[in-house]
Amino acid sequence: VIAIKDLHKAYGSLEVLKGVDITARRGDVVSLIGSSGSGKSTLLRCCNLLEDSQQGEIRFKGEPVHWKGSGHDRRPADAKQVLRIRTNLSMVFQQFNLWAHMTILQNVMEAPVTVLGRDRAQVEEAARGYLDKVGIGDKCDAYPAQLSGGQQQRAAIARGLCMEPEALLFDEPTSALDPELEQEVVRVIKSLAEEGRTMLIVTHDMKMAADVSDHVVFLHKGRIEEEGAPDTLFGSPQTDRLRGFLSATA
Ligand code: ATP
Ligand code: MG
Repeated sequence: VIAIKDLHKAYGSLEVLKGVDITARRGDVVSLIGSSGSGKSTLLRCCNLLEDSQQGEIRFKGEPVHWKGSGHDRRPADAKQVLRIRTNLSMVFQQFNLWAHMTILQNVMEAPVTVLGRDRAQVEEAARGYLDKVGIGDKCDAYPAQLSGGQQQRAAIARGLCMEPEALLFDEPTSALDPELEQEVVRVIKSLAEEGRTMLIVTHDMKMAADVSDHVVFLHKGRIEEEGAPDTLFGSPQTDRLRGFLSATA
């Protein structure tokens, strides 16, 4: 679904991604791990074109992103393509970013109705279904402030699902949560993985990464230092950097 080749990204003179390759085929769960500042969030944001990149190829379902200009002037050339890609890659953030003045149901329905122009009654039915699926079907009429952090994050996941995207992108979905609430969200992510959803997950939760991923990528200073199946990567890390990182996060 997503294939990235030799991606380079700099903020001014600060090189953040220095030639990264990542592929997530349909049904793959790929986790990105690495220390703070290694470029994980930037990579995720480049995937759905929230950030520009200066070099390298991004493909969505085999379709290459069209660019105009080059280097620091490189921008996506086709606004329709950007919208198509962005609406097909739902992003779930660390801070759930729910609209405070809308009920949970309205939050979940908002983008499919306004961005995709889908039929309101059908979206409502789907939204209720997704809220049930993440275990908060009884919170439809509540406002975000009336929910726990774990419930808000699950609402944000339902909102992502309601776009019926090709893939979900998670940026540290559990890191703003207390450990007990974290588990509620991990359970939802696990069930999505079992359903065969395509997901790219930035996480500091090595246990979740080991449990849900088909493939784990360890980023270090904007480069892939090591990658592989979770059993191999966590069971027998090959580089000192990954060994150091894993013992520091254990
Ligand atoms: P964390 O685990 O702390 O979330 P990360 O791996 O997600 O870290 P990024 O957020 O991708 O790291 O940041 C990578 C580097 O890019 C950092 O050095 C950061 O300071 C820099 N950076 C990120 N966003 C911007 C920005 N908008 N402008 C300038 N520099 C930025
Ligand atoms: Mg980050």
